[in-house]
Amino acid sequence: MGCKYSATLLNTSSNHFLYMISSNKIIKILGSGPSGVAAAINLAREGIDVIVYEKNDEPCARFNNGWQILENYSSRIDALEEMIQMNIGTNFFHRGYKKIDFYDHRLKKYPMKGEKPFGYYVKRGPEEDTLDSAMHRIAVDSGVEIKYGEIISETDADIIAGGSRYATGVSKEIVFESDAEDTLITILDNIIAPKGFAYLFIINGKGTIGTAILKNFRKINLYSEYTVLKLKKILDFDMRNVRESVSSVNFFIPSTAAFSGKIYIGEAAGFQDLLFGLGIRRSIQSGYLAARSIIENNSFDVFWKEYFGNQLGSGILNRFIYEKIGQTGFSAFMSLASRMDFQKLGYKLQNPSYIRNSAKSFLMPFLNTKKRCKHGDRCIWCRTLKSDR
Ligand SMILES: Cc1cc2nc3c(=O)[nH]c(=O)nc-3n(C[C@H](O)[C@H](O)[C@H](O)COP(=O)(O)OP(=O)(O)OC[C@H]3O[C@@H](n4cnc5c(N)ncnc54)[C@H](O)[C@@H]3O)c2cc1C
Repeated sequence: MGCKYSATLLNTSSNHFLYMISSNKIIKILGSGPSGVAAAINLAREGIDVIVYEKNDEPCARFNNGWQILENYSSRIDALEEMIQMNIGTNFFHRGYKKIDFYDHRLKKYPMKGEKPFGYYVKRGPEEDTLDSAMHRIAVDSGVEIKYGEIISETDADIIAGGSRYATGVSKEIVFESDAEDTLITILDNIIAPKGFAYLFIINGKGTIGTAILKNFRKINLYSEYTVLKLKKILDFDMRNVRESVSSVNFFIPSTAAFSGKIYIGEAAGFQDLLFGLGIRRSIQSGYLAARSIIENNSFDVFWKEYFGNQLGSGILNRFIYEKIGQTGFSAFMSLASRMDFQKLGYKLQNPSYIRNSAKSFLMPFLNTKKRCKHGDRCIWCRTLKSDR
């Protein structure tokens, strides 16, 4: 998969940006996550003036330097190679893994393995060797101005990269230090993580436990406690210097990500893997493509739809099945997956097939999109997020 810049359609947003560039107006980006900074780096490299506004005082303040996965299965291009192609580089801590242990609700183990790494583990947060700090350094070196501690409204920004705006799911992360050996565990169990999943990653004495749920948001702390208890049955590990955070995640499939003279990228546009909510790669891709669309004066919608639109669509069937199969279905899926190449299976699941394409339009109405956010005003997550803007 690669981006062919064959688009010729102009929409209002690209005309808007053409006007801004010709009149030397500075492009203002809301948010300094992976999507906003990827866009900023690629605009600044072409000599365009960019200011990124970040409401927090440092890069990626919402995560505590815990582990996340830069997935390496959605595309034929290696994720790190793509980072180089998109001018992000790889100057941050990363480690690829080809093996990971999955567990079901009865704690039956299913070892997954493949020829290539299914993902690269990266740190998220303000520490020096995180993905975020590395991207901020490249941005500043490329001439981007980042204004920390400054909130900008969507009305005043040109590119909206402010992350999740609604809550499709909620995730609690516990970051700690440990003497335990390197360990990668994922649990699929609707009792501890309804419609989501739970995980433990320990690498180089640093651990991250995550619980991602798509229902009963108010019980996230309870589910997180269940997760820790269950993990302790699998592995005896110590936890020191524990830090906790809770965030929302959001995914939907937009019909357009460029309207009212603005471009929406990353999670603000709903760009996420619908199965496990892995959004870093999509965020960087969409930031890069937004910059290219402005530089080449082409439609952003054409660019992202061509680059990963089909993959987003393929995720609908995955999510639908995931929510319906239940505990026995999880066990059967893991049993099958453990006999296949895990990285190749990921590619198959993320990419279009006849069945996935046929199911897409039929299942779209069932997807919990931002328009169909069931939580409404009762949802503390939606309210918190809306009041941020
Ligand atoms: C617990 C958890 C674990 C995750 N694990 C993974 C994983 O393993 N792999 C993966 O690929 N993805 C993972 N994700 C998802 C991933 O973190 C996101 O998809 C990704 O960070 C989205 O990038 P973004 O640039 O769109 O937005 P964000 O990273 O959310 O960045 C948005 C930025 O905008 C700033 N901002 C918001 N509003 C304003 C405003 N008005 N003015 C100024 N600044 C503003 C915010 O402070 C923030 O810094 C995880 C998410 C969670 C919650």
